[in-house]
Amino acid sequence: MKVASVEAIPFRIPLTEKKVWARGALDAAEHVLVRIRTDDGLTGIAEAPPRPTIYGESLRSIVAAVEDWFGPAVLGLDPFETEKALERFERWVGNPTARAAVEMALADIKGQAAGVPVYKLLGGWTDQVPVCVRVPTGDADAVVRSCASFRDRYGIVTFKIKVGMKPHEDIATLRAVRETMGPAVRLCPDANQGYDPQTAIRVLKGIEDLDITLLEEPCRIDNDRGRQQVAKVTSIPLMGDESCTNPAEVRRQLALGVVGVISIKVARTGFAVSQRIAHLCEAESVVNLCGTQADSSIGVICGTHFAASCRNVKLASELTGFLDMVDDLLVDTPKIENGMIQLTDRPGLGIAIDEAKLKRYRI
Ligand SMILES: [Mg+2]
Repeated sequence: MKVASVEAIPFRIPLTEKKVWARGALDAAEHVLVRIRTDDGLTGIAEAPPRPTIYGESLRSIVAAVEDWFGPAVLGLDPFETEKALERFERWVGNPTARAAVEMALADIKGQAAGVPVYKLLGGWTDQVPVCVRVPTGDADAVVRSCASFRDRYGIVTFKIKVGMKPHEDIATLRAVRETMGPAVRLCPDANQGYDPQTAIRVLKGIEDLDITLLEEPCRIDNDRGRQQVAKVTSIPLMGDESCTNPAEVRRQLALGVVGVISIKVARTGFAVSQRIAHLCEAESVVNLCGTQADSSIGVICGTHFAASCRNVKLASELTGFLDMVDDLLVDTPKIENGMIQLTDRPGLGIAIDEAKLKRYRI
């Protein structure tokens, strides 16, 4: 079996409402579908979401990187030769989501060829994954209403709440959610580096009694001393996300001792490199969850397979990006029930593109 073709197809699916966080905003998912075909008729898919303010990739740069570099690098390769693909990818720096999508589409093919789902191919830890939802930004009442609606509709009890802009309101919002929704819900605020270290310390003191599961990236990722000061004064685990986008950065944050949780995003590290990150973390007793790059249902299913494969993914994963979009490209949209995504035994990623939808949304 050999790779016969690699396509990069940009598509645009509007969001149900505009998303705002401390360092950016989005009103549509403009992502790239990567589709790989083999000489014996198998097709693997994955998606690459451009995040110019985070990784410096654009829709057009991803298409170019797949068409000019990462695609040709795997042409003629056996999809099972993952290490050879990764070694060839090392010729180029950057472009994390473009290279990750190619590697994940190859994994989809590997699973199909072997007749097993990707999560079993990667480690087979479980077949259902608890999800954490990113709650739309708003005042405390609006956030509480959103959390209650996600719980009632999908059974989701873990909430990622964007903070980092207005410290007093952040504390009030988290307190309102805890007081209204009781002890059974889990609160995962994400500051996206919005606080200076002193503010982060004040906020952490203000929420210390709220049984907070973690605080994500309270302050700037290049301020080592500030991050250490913050980590030292709180019992709330801090989660690395923007500071932990590849194995070298993960090793650095682990060595600094400033994170208790690290977010793995398959959109930026694919499956094979994400496994390396999980193993580094496991050795240091730092746990993982699967984060989201606001992926559509294709990326969500990739993240679900990884989370299900790996026993160091111990916290609810951010696998809800498709809920924010008016549609997706798949024949079967994933379902969240009782706060979980259940994987099937279908081989590979177990998903298929709806060609009519692709025709409608491709750019
Ligand atoms: Mg984050």
